[in-house]
Amino acid sequence: MSTEVVGPVAGRKLGSRIMWSRAKRLAAAKGISVAEARNLLKENPEALANIEYSQAVLNEKESELRKVYPYIVKGSIKFHVSGVHKNKMTVEITCQWPGCTETREVATSDLHQVKYCETHTREARLARRREKWAQANPKKDKPVVVKASKKKAKKVKEEASA
Ligand SMILES: [Zn+2]
Repeated sequence: MSTEVVGPVAGRKLGSRIMWSRAKRLAAAKGISVAEARNLLKENPEALANIEYSQAVLNEKESELRKVYPYIVKGSIKFHVSGVHKNKMTVEITCQWPGCTETREVATSDLHQVKYCETHTREARLARRREKWAQANPKKDKPVVVKASKKKAKKVKEEASA
């Protein structure tokens, strides 16, 4: 088990090990034999996902998440078996920017870092940069674009090292 194999052999071994554990889980969940579960997974690769992420499980997960992120749209949780969010759960969130009512689909694994729609995510990023700039330059009152300040920082560095 612990011997390390690289290359295509490792991939095959890992693949069959995953297949085996998936079949075992499905067999346990459905009360069928592992061989039956393997056949079922061959015919319907999503069979296990459909059991593990049944609507009841998803609803429970969503209400847990809504305790931490109350701006999750109720009833929006989904588990994806294909597409960009393959094997991930997503929810819709309402943008937390004051006055904005846009919703956005977010993978549940990204909830800790996304709370605005795409427009306001950019807006918030700019605001953070301006604030940082203001802190670094307390005497000047006009924020400059970030590119310029980067250039300036580079110039200062170059002058220092020259
Ligand atoms: Zn917004």
